Amino acid sequence: RAKEDGCNSFSLFQDEFRVETLSKITIENELRQALNRNEFEVYYQVQMNLHNEQPYGVEALVRWNHPTKGVLTPFHFLDVAEEAGLIKHIDKWVLEEACRETQAWRKEGFDDLIVSVNVSKPFFESEEFEKVVLQTLEKTGLPPQLLSLEISENINILNVERSFRKLEHLREIGILISLDDFGTGYSSMGQLKRFPIDVLKIDQSFVRHSNGKDKDAAIVRFILNLAKVLGFEVVCEGIETEEQQNFLKSEGCDYAQGYFYSKPIAGKQCKQFLLDIKGKCH
Ligand code: C2E
Ligand code: MG
Ligand code: MG
Ligand code: MG
Repeated sequence: RAKEDGCNSFSLFQDEFRVETLSKITIENELRQALNRNEFEVYYQVQMNLHNEQPYGVEALVRWNHPTKGVLTPFHFLDVAEEAGLIKHIDKWVLEEACRETQAWRKEGFDDLIVSVNVSKPFFESEEFEKVVLQTLEKTGLPPQLLSLEISENINILNVERSFRKLEHLREIGILISLDDFGTGYSSMGQLKRFPIDVLKIDQSFVRHSNGKDKDAAIVRFILNLAKVLGFEVVCEGIETEEQQNFLKSEGCDYAQGYFYSKPIAGKQCKQFLLDIKGKCH
């Protein structure tokens, strides 16, 4: 396009490129300091048990309280963090913070709430991954049965055998493994059969725009059946309406997550949200 429009827009294109590069470097530098300056925060989004309408767990989702730009979601910084080799450190921080907070909530009567933590490819494939997870559980006192590690189906696992062994080992200890964004990534049926996981998370793209009768609905139904046969639990992401919830219930889905129940919110608010739901049932 630049070529067709002549020199002017070509230089415009270059300027844009420069601006983008500049802000990337700025973000990168700011990111390097963000951990030390304690600018990250864990938000939580509740996951509901569709059978009894009680919380099943929470997903920990990182936020960056940027000094001038406000609260930033991962969309604004996760790619840069990964390129800069910082994502592993962010993941470790989120893991510890989420385990600590969930353990604190246990003392307030939420004994069996499962916390799900997202794990990036660099963290997952690092030598220290297993060790860090085990140390974090020890440090925070959270029982392994209450931690779920979410691995996105979009990460192209390099060494499948080695990765499967790692996951097997964590599962033997009692930790749950979830396959995130399922339906959008790399798993073949042959691989899924062998993948050491406990939970499939149906990607939100199949639910969010579905009217319950279209191709997306058929895919959701198919994944729910597949999960039943293979013995996985299912959490469906991206539920925004009551109709979507009813569709999932009628198809026998066990767990759901989405704006219909709650957006991701700060720890304090999440605890209050959990207390409110509990209050309604007594
Ligand atoms: P994800 O793990 O698939 O998390 C779900 C995302 O969908 C979250 O976005 C959540 O806010 C959003 N979401 C949930 N329900 C709804 C809904 O009903 N409608 C819509 N439109 N969106 C919904 P968020 O928090 O911006 O996170 C985006 C992605 O960033 C996550 O996708 C995950 O892949 C990554 N991420 C978040 N926190 C971390 C982290 O601590 N470490 C790593 N490595 N990745 C993270
Ligand atoms: Mg996730
Ligand atoms: Mg997901
Ligand atoms: Mg996603």
